[in-house]
Amino acid sequence: MPDIEVPVLVVGGSLVGMSSAMLLGHYGVRSLVVEHHRGTAIHPRAAQITQRTMEIFRTVGVEQIVKRKSAEQFVQDGAIMGVESLAGKEVAYFIANLNEGIRDLSPCERVFISQSLLEPQLKQRAEELGAELRFATEMTSFEQDSSGVTAHIKHRDTGETATVRARYMIAADGAHSRVRERLGIRMLGRGVFSNSVTIYFRGDVGPLLRGRSLSVIYVINPVLRGFFRIEIPFTSGFLAVIALGDPEHPNTDVSTGLTDQGCLDLLHAALGVDDIPLKIEDVMRWQSEANTAERFREGNIFLVGDSAHVMPPYGGFGGNTGVQDAQNLAWKLAWVLRGAASPGLLDTYEQERRPVGEFTVEQAYSRYVTRTAPYLASKGFQPVAHDMNVELGYCYDGRLHEHPNESKARPGTRAPHMWLSEDCSTLDLLGRDFVLLAAPEWKATTDVQVHRITHPAFPAAYGITSREAVLIRPDGYVAWRGEGAPPTTA
Ligand SMILES: Cc1cc2nc3c(=O)[nH]c(=O)nc-3n(C[C@H](O)[C@H](O)[C@H](O)COP(=O)(O)OP(=O)(O)OC[C@H]3O[C@@H](n4cnc5c(N)ncnc54)[C@H](O)[C@@H]3O)c2cc1C
Repeated sequence: MPDIEVPVLVVGGSLVGMSSAMLLGHYGVRSLVVEHHRGTAIHPRAAQITQRTMEIFRTVGVEQIVKRKSAEQFVQDGAIMGVESLAGKEVAYFIANLNEGIRDLSPCERVFISQSLLEPQLKQRAEELGAELRFATEMTSFEQDSSGVTAHIKHRDTGETATVRARYMIAADGAHSRVRERLGIRMLGRGVFSNSVTIYFRGDVGPLLRGRSLSVIYVINPVLRGFFRIEIPFTSGFLAVIALGDPEHPNTDVSTGLTDQGCLDLLHAALGVDDIPLKIEDVMRWQSEANTAERFREGNIFLVGDSAHVMPPYGGFGGNTGVQDAQNLAWKLAWVLRGAASPGLLDTYEQERRPVGEFTVEQAYSRYVTRTAPYLASKGFQPVAHDMNVELGYCYDGRLHEHPNESKARPGTRAPHMWLSEDCSTLDLLGRDFVLLAAPEWKATTDVQVHRITHPAFPAAYGITSREAVLIRPDGYVAWRGEGAPPTTA
């Protein structure tokens, strides 16, 4: 007999595991999360949160708290730019203002908030929505059969063990996923191209910003390639370093043998001055890679987040893509678990998310090559797509991506945002269930909730006539549009 029975076991309780638990709770599914660490993230890591992720956070009620916390930590609407050094010459502005020109596309804004500040908000909401979270707990082994997964867990401090029986298991166990490895699922792609480091430091670097509002500062000089993120009040931050020396023939093994003095030398080279007292707080070693798992599913086990795709942190897509995996999977698990859909619905997780994951990995790689590693260009890379195509315009209809202004509620694309009143977006009408947004003259009966939209701009924004309607899935993607009754959602 298992010690614990739960519909869904989530392995890994960092950004994507915690989001999975929160979203499962939102769709009415109980989950158990086991996380090796003793608490939520201690390292900042991901910070750039896209509008789409904020839309997902809005759905589950954490958008406002995330915005408030973000404003405590980072300048809002900063630039993403390249410099020779923070004190020195500016090389390029990749994004002049984080939200300029994109506010019409969403009720939400892009923000910066580090994982160490974001995860506690997600944790609190996941618990409110019924998730059970066990920290300092390792999933040590598992087996699966046709009706579920049996996993063995162990508390790191007490050594206490337990057996968990779950109908489904979500592997949110990161880039070095042992679940993926155990399942024999290979990573395919461009491999590893740097042994990188993140140097966390303290020091009064505010004067070097010279009043500039900067969210990400790429550093490109003969000593190093990498990027800074600096937190309010500009006395702490990190420098990620992905290559050293000659830009044409760089040393991409930054981490081997790196000493504290080596870290200080890199910081001085990136700051462009060596007279600011600095303290190295921590050094994190990680690999820059661009790979996608060959499968996102094995039986009753699903890969999400970095266990499914690992990309360089150029574009800030990694964690966001994982949250979007979690949303795509959570509602499907909910439907199947409550018998509202056949298990075949779960096949669509990999069908929809794997191509999007692979596309996003390639886009992060293209930004890496063009912004920091031109020496890789000779090996080829995909053309850089518009940021909005990647962040808001990923599609499930075979096209992969397009600008969100183009989709006009075509099935397989994200339902477009338009303001219906000062504070109500079309996206706020979407809920835990399928909903139908209907133009004024649409006539039929259906078992899903219908919102009749009288706003004159609605039919054009959603690409329909005044007699048509649009059926939208619980994850905000369009399932159908047309006249008459929509197909049954079961
Ligand atoms: C310098 C840097 C900057 C970045 N910036 C951004 C950004 O701005 N925006 C963005 O979207 N992404 C960014 N990323 C990427 C982002 O950090 C990752 O994509 C994200 O952390 C992935 O989350 P995850 O939950 O899938 O995996 P992880 O964060 O790796 O979490 C996996 C968790 O699983 C736990 N675990 C593993 N095995 C077990 C087990 N057997 N039992 C129990 N627990 C287990 C681990 O302890 C860990 O906490 C950045 C990355 C780096 C390195």
